[in-house]
Amino acid sequence: MTVVDTRTRWNQVGAEFVDRHCDLCGSGESHALVRLHGSAYHECASCGLIYACPIARNLSAINEHNYAENLPAYAAKVERQKPRNLRRLRGFERYRQTGNFLELGCNAGIVIAAARDAGWRAHGVDISVAATSYARETLGLEVFCGTLVEAAYADDHFDVVYSNSVLEHLEHPFANLLEVRRILRPGGVFYADTVNWDSYTRRILGTEWRYIDPIDHVHLYTPRNVRELARRADFEIERIWTTGVRVEPNRPGTRWRPPWHLRLCKGPLSLAARFTGRGDAIRFLLRKPLR
Ligand SMILES: [Zn+2]
Repeated sequence: MTVVDTRTRWNQVGAEFVDRHCDLCGSGESHALVRLHGSAYHECASCGLIYACPIARNLSAINEHNYAENLPAYAAKVERQKPRNLRRLRGFERYRQTGNFLELGCNAGIVIAAARDAGWRAHGVDISVAATSYARETLGLEVFCGTLVEAAYADDHFDVVYSNSVLEHLEHPFANLLEVRRILRPGGVFYADTVNWDSYTRRILGTEWRYIDPIDHVHLYTPRNVRELARRADFEIERIWTTGVRVEPNRPGTRWRPPWHLRLCKGPLSLAARFTGRGDAIRFLLRKPLR
């Protein structure tokens, strides 16, 4: 098995290491699924959550650097991706009562700019100073810079909390989920898209899988993990499903191209993934109970 040299990259970004327990159940008992120089991904022996340990103590500073670096490219997509986001947001119309919409991890505001155009009172929260400044100053959006808990939104406030490619970055997903539940109105929904540890792509690529990176991805999820998170946070599960399959590694400096037989398999694998829950991303819709 390839052992990824994480420590070299961590040294480049000045990371200090910190050990941790399972965020969901607090257990320190686990077994390593992937070993890396400097870190490892562990599966909690008690609840099955998959987490990186150790992780960087200065995660937010490292992320801020990434945000600032990628901001120009991201900002250029605000208008280009608006039609697609408006189409995606139509699926949430059935939940509109208060008219309040929140994106957890809104980056520079691509989705909430579209939500505002669709008539929502759109809010965003993100830890990046650079991204939230852009959202506020350039796009005139309502965004909070900090964590969701720090934002301290009112109880029962939002119809929809939306999150795209964020849960894998969170150090404390369970605390965030509890906070999402508190600020949703009864019957409101939490939609999220995150990585799928159970994906065919991860199984094929092993440590070349683009999400094997404990600096950026401190949790990697399975559909079972999502069900367990939802159960412990007292959500009703509306739906959990997975996307299609793209067998592509994404490690810096990698020139690996999928061989012809994998490119040929992409269609059938994507089809199979729909029925087996082994697509690249997990998507889910959780509902706050009415009681
Ligand atoms: Zn656990």
